[in-house]
Amino acid sequence: MNSETVLSVFESNGVVHAKVNEPLARYTTWRIGGPADVYVSPRTVEELTGAVHAAKALGMPWWVMGKGSNLLVQDGGIRGLVIRLGDEMAKIEVDNHRVIAESGRSFVSAANIAIRHNLAGLEFATGIPGSVGGAVMMNAGAHGGEVKDVLEWADVLGGDGTIRRLTNRDLKFDYRYSLLKDHPGIVVRAAFLLQEGDGTALAEKVKQWSQRRSQTQPLSQPNCGSVFRNPPGTHAGLLIESAGLKGLRKGDAQISEKHANFIVNLGQAKAVDVLWLMRHAQETVRKKFGVELETEVRIVGEPA
Ligand SMILES: Cc1cc2nc3c(=O)[nH]c(=O)nc-3n(C[C@H](O)[C@H](O)[C@H](O)COP(=O)(O)OP(=O)(O)OC[C@H]3O[C@@H](n4cnc5c(N)ncnc54)[C@H](O)[C@@H]3O)c2cc1C
Repeated sequence: MNSETVLSVFESNGVVHAKVNEPLARYTTWRIGGPADVYVSPRTVEELTGAVHAAKALGMPWWVMGKGSNLLVQDGGIRGLVIRLGDEMAKIEVDNHRVIAESGRSFVSAANIAIRHNLAGLEFATGIPGSVGGAVMMNAGAHGGEVKDVLEWADVLGGDGTIRRLTNRDLKFDYRYSLLKDHPGIVVRAAFLLQEGDGTALAEKVKQWSQRRSQTQPLSQPNCGSVFRNPPGTHAGLLIESAGLKGLRKGDAQISEKHANFIVNLGQAKAVDVLWLMRHAQETVRKKFGVELETEVRIVGEPA
């Protein structure tokens, strides 16, 4: 089917901004990733459901991403439809102790708005550069807090095109896990139930966390946060550093000199280079320490 026919099916479902063959590198924090066959960044819930209907009508697989801060999109890109929920769908409201945000909202900005309203509980999110939807899906967390502690409910669009409200308990949160990992659905919006707090004290606390992060993490270079999960009782970064791999380079991908559980893109890195470094780190750590490093970033798409 040619591009014009595909786009006309999207248009007839109310989706006017679909693009074909869109490079995904521009939407990932690693600045790596091949093209999506079709790409949509919906502005409304109606446009989102329209995109899912259009994909269904075309027999096209669909997949959702947020701010691409936990993704390695392979160099061959992603077949089918990629729906990106970002700044275009990011309404937010504060209702008493509740912050209700559309899934494309930046998680950092949702946390900052909560602080400005003297609400405590979401401040752990100020250093997590993802979207609200990605954070719910990943049960993102930092500084001893995680989504599980504050999420009241999330509206989730299922493959059948209907939106259901799932409670915290329904989502079966665990360490960097939610039910959505095994039963795909699209988080449309989420409500966080917070407590009264002192905005000035909260702002001071997050300032200190942010200073610490910029001292210890390579935030000025494109990266994807922690590449591996921390194995029980130890740190992936420590094991990789002890194995002598800090600074190791493959193409334009490098195990960060600053933090060994980060891989940075020095310019034109390819997913294949990052994957080589990841496998090399896993093999070396396995041989030296007998520890199996599990990937935290999600690897999607096809090799070139
Ligand atoms: C510098 C840096 C620091 C980081 N620090 C932390 C940290 O301290 N703690 C932490 O937990 N993470 C951290 N991360 C990782 C990342 O920010 C989180 O995992 C974040 O929650 C991912 O959100 P995202 O919108 O970028 O999701 P993406 O990377 O776009 O996608 C991740 C997964 O979520 C799914 N997804 C995205 N949006 C939706 C949606 N609306 N509905 C359903 N599924 C969806 C995707 O399909 C994919 O499987 C860090 C990353 C970076 C770059």
